[in-house]
Amino acid sequence: MKPSLLPFLACPDCGADLALERRELDGDEVIEGSLSCHGCRHSWGIHAGVPRFAAVVEHEASARTAVAFGWEWNRFSELDTRYRRQFLDWIRPVDAGFFRGKTVLEGGCGKGRHTVLAAEFGARAVVALDLSDAVDAAWRNTRHLPAAHVVQGDILRPPVKAVFDYAFSVGVLHHMPVPEEGFRALVSNVRPGGHVSAWVYGREGNGWIVHLLNPVREKVTSRLPHRVLDVVAALVTVPLWLVTKLVYGPTGGRLGRRTLPYGPYLSYIAGFPFLEQRTIVFDHLVAPVAFYLRRDEFAGWFDRAGLEEVSIEHHNANSWRGFARVPAEIA
Ligand SMILES: [Zn+2]
Repeated sequence: MKPSLLPFLACPDCGADLALERRELDGDEVIEGSLSCHGCRHSWGIHAGVPRFAAVVEHEASARTAVAFGWEWNRFSELDTRYRRQFLDWIRPVDAGFFRGKTVLEGGCGKGRHTVLAAEFGARAVVALDLSDAVDAAWRNTRHLPAAHVVQGDILRPPVKAVFDYAFSVGVLHHMPVPEEGFRALVSNVRPGGHVSAWVYGREGNGWIVHLLNPVREKVTSRLPHRVLDVVAALVTVPLWLVTKLVYGPTGGRLGRRTLPYGPYLSYIAGFPFLEQRTIVFDHLVAPVAFYLRRDEFAGWFDRAGLEEVSIEHHNANSWRGFARVPAEIA
């Protein structure tokens, strides 16, 4: 933990400031130590560089999901360019320049692939929260970036102050037991006048997933050991890869987008290499909980949170991205 994270942290129980105790340092960075609350006196450990506000049991559903996301992060760093384009696709109309000088909260960072990008785009600080042990990889992947901070904690009880200029959550909320609660918690940590982005699976255009794949995922694949599931995902990816390369990819995706089933999405991933398609398949098979949201459900989150200037767009005709502003004055 970099000491510059401390001003952003608050007790998840009572909201008071925290005191930092350093036990082992690497330069400025606290590798082992603790954080204790000035108010209620609760304390939490800092282990292996990461403040630990939530210890997670290995089999907990949401933790399993988070570990699975970003699973390939280390091995395929050459995909950085694609990750950058994908990330900006998921949070549009936000662009790279939007991050400059801002304080950013990331709800569900996995291994930190978007944390790195937010920091590289010039954010003044990015506080990346994740429930799972993926934070260990996220810490390794981001510790060289002065603006990046990784915290193990629960989005529903975020150990941070409500001071952020911008909060985003990409591909995480639809895996929470009550997705809207996660969204509200994210919004609650944005300052008045700040902004929020979320990207979630859509129900529209995903009928076959809901009716055919969901039952298989819930009853079978989400219960398999990750190593076994990885093989299953590879086998499923072979026909997917062939179809996208041979049918959707040619003509630059123009024909596929307009006329073929799942055209916009499969044309989009036709450009991805096999290993990345396998990761996508793995993600879809591993999650114990996944909601596919209708536009009006997703829009309802923004309405009920009292957000302004709401922009909700269909992404690849099978998911939703939303962006909005938190009112400057709280009525
Ligand atoms: Zn407290």
